[in-house]
Amino acid sequence: MSTRKLLPVFPPSPCQVCFAADRDGTSGGSGGSEPNEALLKPEEHVLSTLEADGSRRWLRPKLSMGEWWKRRRVIAYILMVVFVAIPHLRIGGKPLILLDIAAREFTVWGKTFYPTDTLVLALFLLSVLVSIVLITAVTGRAWCGWACPQTVYMEFLFRPIDRFFEGTAGKGGKPASGISPVWQIARFGVYLVLCMFLAHTFLAYFVGTEKLAQWVRTSPIDHPSAFLVMAATTGLMLFDFLFFREQLCLIACPYGRFQSVMLDEQSKIVAYDPVRGEPRIKGKRTHDEEQGIDLVRGKAAGDCVDCHQCVVVCPTGIDIRDGLQMECINCTQCIDACDDVMHKVGKPTGLIRFSSQDAIARKPKKMLRARTIIYPIILIGVFSGLAMAISSKSGFDARILRGRGAPFSLLGAKEVSNAFNLRLVNRTEIPQKYELSTDRSEVQIEIIDEDAQSLEPAESKLLPIRLNFPSSMTMGDGNEAIELTVKDDSGNERTISMKVLGPRR
Ligand code: SF4
Ligand code: SF4
Repeated sequence: MSTRKLLPVFPPSPCQVCFAADRDGTSGGSGGSEPNEALLKPEEHVLSTLEADGSRRWLRPKLSMGEWWKRRRVIAYILMVVFVAIPHLRIGGKPLILLDIAAREFTVWGKTFYPTDTLVLALFLLSVLVSIVLITAVTGRAWCGWACPQTVYMEFLFRPIDRFFEGTAGKGGKPASGISPVWQIARFGVYLVLCMFLAHTFLAYFVGTEKLAQWVRTSPIDHPSAFLVMAATTGLMLFDFLFFREQLCLIACPYGRFQSVMLDEQSKIVAYDPVRGEPRIKGKRTHDEEQGIDLVRGKAAGDCVDCHQCVVVCPTGIDIRDGLQMECINCTQCIDACDDVMHKVGKPTGLIRFSSQDAIARKPKKMLRARTIIYPIILIGVFSGLAMAISSKSGFDARILRGRGAPFSLLGAKEVSNAFNLRLVNRTEIPQKYELSTDRSEVQIEIIDEDAQSLEPAESKLLPIRLNFPSSMTMGDGNEAIELTVKDDSGNERTISMKVLGPRR
């Protein structure tokens, strides 16, 4: 394997080049006027998307329609349909997913959550994080090549459009002749329509399909914010798919950068097999029976015929033969391209294959290792906590908060009062009124704002209350544990353990 494993490679800065040149005694010095070849000849394509002069190297990957590509295409089209369908699907009359930020309601799988559901949110985010780490440890960057919207839409929607307009459909690569301005405009029109459609679909996740349909039928002046969000999303998508493209994976996405800590030598990666492939050499092979090796022009030859097909199909422009690189999104195009070449030269396929660093180095496979044991255990724990937190979210939420100011006040010589605010969230589909009681007959509940006792569906209110009780209750410790029970009209019930405070003597 190459020593370039997971390390970003940056073009040498002028200082580095200068320093190297000085060290080698080849520099003319910074004040010299003579052009110095050592300074002006950077390595070609130091970064896969950078020309030697620092300008953008535009990639037009060829298409290899092998078995892996066919599998990815099926998954990509399913994912595109799922993305468009989700906002239209309902469970029990509620959307499958609706992230209504304006109303501060988040419906997932037909269940509505509120900003107060911090535990559910924290456990959900933790479960997503641990799942990503586990999936990456086992399958490598399967997400990037197979399910990331950037790859799915770029490779299976926008690049096919490019190929159609450039006349390279089914082949990819550069068009034989330039594309005419009319076709350029037509291509931009198709991009614009598709990006607008995707932006509307994206917006539907946040506002729902009914509101979106209503907005689409009315003037943008009636809903300027939503229109601006849609226009900005369309603009960003156009920028990404027309211009930024693979740069999003190479520069902007943090996931690629984190893979060096998430992968280990047993993780699945797309890998070139140098044991089989090297020494790479062009030319027709003859088999030397005596030595048991292939020869080209009398030299030993590996299975790699150095045809560069694995490079020209790569959407991030890298050469997988340089080893595992963070630019690799596991798209499998190089596998398909190389398998095709191997068929043609009569060699077994799999010179580039899904494998692991250890397998390529002919080391034994280890399914059970620290990260494949510890991550699932953590994940089971987090999922269990999440399931329990979600199942407890039925009927209503009730949370007691102590009132501001003095911890207690005296009502005459023998009675004490404690102020509280009861945060109520109605999680049912009907209006509810809430009744309060305690387990102590001597505690009187005083409702300060009776209006706050009734909540509309999905409404949240702060109900101010006072608990009045004889001062003898807190004598000694200065506090007493009690249980407050809250009941709604539908019979849902919550019991809150709390303490009331009063004088010690
Ligand atoms: S090296 Fe192969 S798998 Fe990785 S991005 Fe390039 S073509 Fe895809
Ligand atoms: S496609 Fe296969 S044979 Fe051709 S250069 Fe790449 S690894 Fe070598």
